Amino acid sequence: MFREILQRQQPTVYQILSNSLKDSKLSHCYLFTGPKGTPKKETALLLAQSLVCEKKGDWACEECASCRRVQEGNYGDLVYIDGAGKPIKVEMIDALKTRFEKTALEKNGHKIFIIDNCETLTLKSANSLLKFIEEPAGEMTGIFITSQPERLLPTIVSRCQTVSFRPLSRNEFHTLALEKGLDEVTAHFVSGLIDSADQIETVSASEPFSSALVSFMEFNRLFFKNRPEAVLYLQERFSKLNRNDRSSARDTFRYFLDISLQFVSDILNGYQSADDEYDRLLKTASESSFDRSRYLKAIAETRDGFNMAANGLLLIDQMLYKLLEV
Ligand SMILES: [Zn+2]
Repeated sequence: MFREILQRQQPTVYQILSNSLKDSKLSHCYLFTGPKGTPKKETALLLAQSLVCEKKGDWACEECASCRRVQEGNYGDLVYIDGAGKPIKVEMIDALKTRFEKTALEKNGHKIFIIDNCETLTLKSANSLLKFIEEPAGEMTGIFITSQPERLLPTIVSRCQTVSFRPLSRNEFHTLALEKGLDEVTAHFVSGLIDSADQIETVSASEPFSSALVSFMEFNRLFFKNRPEAVLYLQERFSKLNRNDRSSARDTFRYFLDISLQFVSDILNGYQSADDEYDRLLKTASESSFDRSRYLKAIAETRDGFNMAANGLLLIDQMLYKLLEV
């Protein structure tokens, strides 16, 4: 049930909407703002369901026929417009108006529109919509969604009740990644690399990331046994990648450095992993004698210079020689 997820992940949003639903103090218009990847659309659908649910209660049951049809996009009096990647033209708003001026199609009678990525509303569309909001034909609720509220017309913002979704913490990204079926180690590292939940899949599924993770695990497994062998392993692997596809190799090197930085931070913080292999590596590293601050410095400096460096492989090479000495 999405309601429980919302309650756990966005307690403030949950509380605001709970109060509105409980006291029937609904606004005519809501503006859902917050970083990409926060569940704004899901919440808009849940609010829509709650307005038309066939069962009695503040929140939607998420199971009745009406709730299901909202979820599936088949509810007659719900219009969903998505402005992602294209301007929302006035014709689309006109079509919405025409539809809502007619008698409600559903028995419930409540009409709802959701405008996703509403920052792409043109000035003309926005003005047309504003007039419509002020003189609604019957019971109507509008929900605007955006991750870029600074791009909205102030007139829209001022007519809406703003509901802000908070960015997720690293731990929450981690939990979400596990829920999406990622393994423990991937979830751990991906959650440290992203700033929005929708990047969980794109990063974890990317070839450079998985290649970097494999290289990282093998390099460090060797490193604490036999450093020259570890260095040789990475040099061979990375120069081969570089020959095959330079730009993808660069991404791999960058991920490798980011993962390595996280690794040092895990060692310093005494992090315990639920993954046996990574946990063993952390233990080996903690028990090994090496200069942690020099190890960290070598990686951090390489990462800092990486974006500017013309030759990523050369920079990695230099780092490896420093790591032999730590
Ligand atoms: Zn229901």
